[in-house]
Amino acid sequence: MIGAIVSGAAGRMGQRIIRVISETEGIKLAGALDHPHHKSLGRDAGEVAAVGRLGIPIQSDIDKILPQAQVVIEFSAPEATLAHLDSISKAGKAMVIGTTGFRAEDQAYIRKQGEYIPVVFSPNMSVGVNMLFQLLPQIAKSLGHDYDIEIVEAHHRFKKDAPSGTALKMAQVIAEGRHQNLSETACYGRHGVVGERKSDEIGVHAVRAGDIVGTHTVLFSCLGESLEITHRAHSRDAFARGAVVAAKFAARAQPKLYDMQAVLGF
Ligand code: NAD
Repeated sequence: MIGAIVSGAAGRMGQRIIRVISETEGIKLAGALDHPHHKSLGRDAGEVAAVGRLGIPIQSDIDKILPQAQVVIEFSAPEATLAHLDSISKAGKAMVIGTTGFRAEDQAYIRKQGEYIPVVFSPNMSVGVNMLFQLLPQIAKSLGHDYDIEIVEAHHRFKKDAPSGTALKMAQVIAEGRHQNLSETACYGRHGVVGERKSDEIGVHAVRAGDIVGTHTVLFSCLGESLEITHRAHSRDAFARGAVVAAKFAARAQPKLYDMQAVLGF
C-alpha cells in the first residue's frame, strides 16, 4: 500500500485528489498539508474533502509527516512546492508536481532534483491534454508555416497564473515541432496598433471567467480554412485521477524527471 501526502489539501484540486485516493486501491492518504494560515488547518482532511473522516489532520509541517509516506502530491503554489521539494529530496521520497506558474529558473531546479528522486512534473495530468502534447508538434510540422497558430485558454476567475501552464506547454511543443525558439516567436495577447501578424508567431491568449474548469483551443488557420482542436475539462476529476496514477507510478519509479506522457505510456 502506497502512502501519499497531499499538499494543497484544502484547495480545489487537493480535495478532489483526496476523494480519488479514497476510491482507489493500492494507495492511501498518509498526510495532508496546507498553508500555515489556512482556516482548515487542524481539520480532518477527509471531512474537508467531503469524503468522511479519515483521521488525517491538515497540517503545515512537511518534515513531521514525511516518514509516513512514499510520495507527495503537490497542487499548491510555486513557493510551497519548491520548499517541499527540498524536504522530499532530502528524505529520498517521490513527488508529483501539478502546481503551475514556475519561473524558468524554478523549472531548472525541479529538473535538477529529478536526478536524485522520482519526480512527475506536468502542468496538466489529464489523458486528453497529454494526447494533445503528443499530437500538436506533428500537426504543426505537417501543416507547415503557411498555417497561423493561436492558442486560446479559458479558466475560472480564481486562477492565479496566466497563461495557463498547459497553454505554455502546448506552445512549447508546437515550437519544437516547427523547429522554432518559443521565446522569439510567442505572442502573449495583442493590444493597440501591433501591425500585421508575423508568419511564425505562436499566439497565446488567456480568458478568465466564472467557474470554467479549463478549456484549451489550438487554432491552425491559413487563407481558406481553419482547423480547431479543443480540449474541455468537464470537472477537476480528469486531473485528480491523473495525479493519483502519477503518484502510484512515482512511488515505484527510479530517480528521474518524468512527464505525464511517460506515466501514461504514450
Ligand atoms: P487552490 O487555490 O484552490 O488551492 C491551492 C491550495 O494550496 C490552497 O488550499 C492553498 O492554501 C494551498 N497552499 C498555499 N500555500 C501552501 C503551503 N505553503 N503549503 C501547503 N499548501 C499551500 O488552487 P487549485 O485550483 O487547487 O490549483 C492548485 C495548483 O494546481 C495551481 O498551480 C493550478 O494551476 C494547478 N493545477 C494543475 C493541474 C494539473 O493537471 N497539473 C490541474 C489543475 C490545477
